[in-house]
Amino acid sequence: MKNSAVLAGHNWAPATAGNYSIRLPDGLIAITVSGEDKGDLGPHSVMTVDAGGKATDHRKPSAETLLHIKLYEHYPGCHAVLHTHSVASTVLTRRYAQLSHLTLTDYEFLKLFPGIASHSAKLEIPIIDNSQDMQALSAKISPLLSPDMRAYLIRGHGLYVWSENMTLARRLTEAVEFMLSCELELRRERNEPIADL
Ligand SMILES: [Zn+2]
Repeated sequence: MKNSAVLAGHNWAPATAGNYSIRLPDGLIAITVSGEDKGDLGPHSVMTVDAGGKATDHRKPSAETLLHIKLYEHYPGCHAVLHTHSVASTVLTRRYAQLSHLTLTDYEFLKLFPGIASHSAKLEIPIIDNSQDMQALSAKISPLLSPDMRAYLIRGHGLYVWSENMTLARRLTEAVEFMLSCELELRRERNEPIADL
């Protein structure tokens, strides 16, 4: 099954939300066209932009193309970026509106991340406040990007994950979304007060 269909199957890209890209060998970025249903992507659904985000044809790339470009600029080894809009990422980042990051620990999936060998490690995922101004979002996230980082959250909006290739990017996306879903369930069950976090 195609990676995009798997993500759509989890309802992580409803109503044409989300966007995906890869870096091609010639340095161009192949990215989803704006407004496409991510569960039904075909050859017409993907276009190329240059390293500055400029379209190479008349079509319109995703509104969030700049956020993909910034990750490729910052991480020379990055070759795939996935962006999802899940219920868990939306609810958690709104529920804890004062948090600048979400800490994930005690999950087997943490070992998928660079530099992590145990479930007991702590993975901090930055959260930036949402905006429709992509330059503003980019300016918020750029200073927070660290060498081993592979994910960040936009409050009330969704998740960005990137990696060396699309297969790994999809696995990391599934891992983070799984952990976010667990956090949502756990915190709801405990009715966890914000002050205890
Ligand atoms: Zn988005």
